[in-house]
Amino acid sequence: MAGEPILIIEDNPSNLKLVKTLLKVEGYDVKTAINAEEALKLLNTFHPQLILMDLQLPGMDGLELTQKLKNDPQFQEIIVIALTAYAMTRDKEKAIAAGCDGFMTKPIDIKTFPDEIIQYLKSKKRNLGRAL
Ligand code: MN
Repeated sequence: MAGEPILIIEDNPSNLKLVKTLLKVEGYDVKTAINAEEALKLLNTFHPQLILMDLQLPGMDGLELTQKLKNDPQFQEIIVIALTAYAMTRDKEKAIAAGCDGFMTKPIDIKTFPDEIIQYLKSKKRNLGRAL
């Protein structure tokens, strides 16, 4: 499994670089944005299967952007995985309430990260299969 389009939205340069590198090594088609505005612009032409969404973004935050995407028929099928430094249950609940399909805590575990991504992509395919 490789080549799936993935968008990373992350304002922290070192974390962005790490996640991007890990996904590129696996062969994914990776694009990045450092804020919601840039992400929305990119989404006009790039159609990711999965978005890694930092929740703490300057301007429109990741929760708000997720809600916006999940309320838009054009984007609601995209798998959105929240990335956050806060591992509090309340934050997970907020992420799920906003429409996130999963949750990863920073710093990410580079050993388990590639497999977690595969699992999320697979879950999407199962869901689509059921819908069809
Ligand atoms: Mn951030």
